[in-house]
Amino acid sequence: LTRVLSHDLQERLDPFLMLDAFGSDNPGDYIAGFPNHPHRGFETVTYMLAGRMRHKDSHGNEGLLQNGGVQWMTAGRGLTHSEMPEQEEGVMEGFQLWLNLPAKNKLCEPWYRDIQSENIPEFSTDSGILVRVIAGHSHGTAGAMQREHTRPVYLDLHFPSTDGSTFEQTLPRTHNAFVYVYRGSLDVAQSEQTTTVPIQRMGVLNNDGDGVVLRGQANTRAILIAGCPLHEPIAQYGPFVMNTREELVQAVDDFRAGLMG
Ligand code: MN
Repeated sequence: LTRVLSHDLQERLDPFLMLDAFGSDNPGDYIAGFPNHPHRGFETVTYMLAGRMRHKDSHGNEGLLQNGGVQWMTAGRGLTHSEMPEQEEGVMEGFQLWLNLPAKNKLCEPWYRDIQSENIPEFSTDSGILVRVIAGHSHGTAGAMQREHTRPVYLDLHFPSTDGSTFEQTLPRTHNAFVYVYRGSLDVAQSEQTTTVPIQRMGVLNNDGDGVVLRGQANTRAILIAGCPLHEPIAQYGPFVMNTREELVQAVDDFRAGLMG
């Protein structure tokens, strides 16, 4: 498990609170899973590149997340859930992104959606780049999810087996944005500057409204994530993300009182 987007980047990459990349072919690394735990005040977006994970929550919901699928969960006022592997061997690989909610929606009704891989819109560019549009829009293709307020863009880019294909993405000037490379290597061009982002590294984009141009080595794979910042105070205590310390104390009290299931 690699914490790609850590606590110290929460302000810079508002509205994103965390990104974990997980990947292993050793069952000892993943078999314990994530037994029952609570969340309040934000959304979790789990993208499973490979493997099978079952989730169950305190509202009686249950689903299987596997190979290329996404679970989008709005924790809102709170729930408890478990995320447990449903495999005893093989590769488990993917990402979990935490997306903040605006203050007025932090105590909304919990909600989730399982999106199977075949329901994630895809397109291929002329240069052979496969683009999976998990959220937002890219080149006229609407993603599987649209969210108001934070208006996230979440793309998974698969570059072809030849070097040097380029992908352009326009981004609203308001958005904070970053890329994370999980195969190969990317050259990121913006503001007349080019920076190489190697494998297992994140590149924070200085989005100036002109968008970004990504040039990939052969077989590079990367995610591009962007969102509109909320500009609200961030108060976090473990799995609770609110705006003030008082609201965190309330979250802990509510959890202990069994109000999150
Ligand atoms: Mn969780």
